[in-house]
Amino acid sequence: MSQDTNHSSSITFYGGTETVTGSNFLFETNGLKILVDCGLFQGCRICGDLNVEPFPYNPSSIDILFVTHGHLDHVGRIPKLVREGFRGVIYSTPPTRDLGELMLIDSMGIMEKEAKREHTELLYNTEDVEKAMRLWRTAEYHEPLSLGAGVTARLKDSGHILGSSMVELEHDGKKIVFTGDLGNSPAPLLHDTEIVNDADYLVIESVYGDRNHPSREEQKGLLKQIIEETIMSGGALMIPAFSIERTQVLLAELNELIEHKKIPPVPIFLDSPLAIKATAIYEKYERYFNKETMALIKSGDNIFNFHGLKSTLRTEESKAINDVPNPKVIIAGSGMSAGGRIIHHEKRYLPDPKSTLLLVGYQAPGTLGRELKDGAKEVTILGERVPVRARVTEISGYSGHKDSDAILDFVSHDKGQAKKIFVVMGELKSATFLAQKIQDNLSLEAVVPKKGEKMEILF
Ligand SMILES: [Zn+2]
Repeated sequence: MSQDTNHSSSITFYGGTETVTGSNFLFETNGLKILVDCGLFQGCRICGDLNVEPFPYNPSSIDILFVTHGHLDHVGRIPKLVREGFRGVIYSTPPTRDLGELMLIDSMGIMEKEAKREHTELLYNTEDVEKAMRLWRTAEYHEPLSLGAGVTARLKDSGHILGSSMVELEHDGKKIVFTGDLGNSPAPLLHDTEIVNDADYLVIESVYGDRNHPSREEQKGLLKQIIEETIMSGGALMIPAFSIERTQVLLAELNELIEHKKIPPVPIFLDSPLAIKATAIYEKYERYFNKETMALIKSGDNIFNFHGLKSTLRTEESKAINDVPNPKVIIAGSGMSAGGRIIHHEKRYLPDPKSTLLLVGYQAPGTLGRELKDGAKEVTILGERVPVRARVTEISGYSGHKDSDAILDFVSHDKGQAKKIFVVMGELKSATFLAQKIQDNLSLEAVVPKKGEKMEILF
């Protein structure tokens, strides 16, 4: 078959469809097998089983794996893929490779503890991670990659976290774009999501497909106000934060507040080894930041470091935070208080009416964070009943995802050649709502693929 005819091609939706996590799409064209993402299923009752199941295709038959970004629900099963025979090439941007490696090593630590406790098998081991890293090459945004069979790939900035990308595959003028997660542009540190206007097929995320975020104006000033109130009351301000992006955005905002003397000096602790290491990766890749952030850095401002900030890597340093008198600010993981160092601080300060717990991210049902968000008066932490007398409050403007209207706007740039939009990476309700909204507003065909469904396309 010559390279200028349309091959019969297909996409099979193996994970990250009808649900947010477990992103895993197989694109097949002219004998070439390309995976986009190989993520962990997270936050559901049967997730453990889904992650343990063998892949529904032969990993050794896959030629290339593209990784959109370093979040665990996009990279978490890569070492398992290698363990089951994958020997192809992995491609991502350089920051995604670094963040991905960090997340895989970190999650292995968590899995080892779990496996010991529940006497289960490990999903993968250190050797599998090392093997995966040896197969993992990097490409800059827009660098053309020839994949064979006349197919060229390019990564485009999706503006979601450092190094996050969309994957564009092109053959004979036909294009398919996998969006990965789409950033809530304009984001404080990153470039806006690049415009895609010439895709024939789009595989698009829909985490917030049926909801809009509150306006940024409403959020502005809230962090400053909450810190001032904490200082006045003489309590501790606890912020459970996700290690990638959310923490760095918080640090940059605190840097601004402190260095412009908008808040009085107060000890601030970054009490998360994962977040400390992720921040070091952010510092390494300054060139990926937006113009405003680059200008700040050029002016000599170290945006993730300021007077009063202490990063506590070691356990003893973390424990010593207890001895620092209030008021103080503690940023610690995990983001949903499902473990990590934050729960030790919560155990200590939730009973204190002068203290505040500030939620800055989504809290999944079943997590301690969700219980607290829903107003629990007493919670169980590390086997002990803990009364909740501290104030529990929320700033919801930190979301790293486009909301429903912003996704519609993203799709609306299409010049009219899009043949089909596949709506994925959202709960079924959210994905279905978005698909309907795209059909109604843009008159484009939009569908929500079922898990395991194979869709033929012209490519
Ligand atoms: Zn993500």
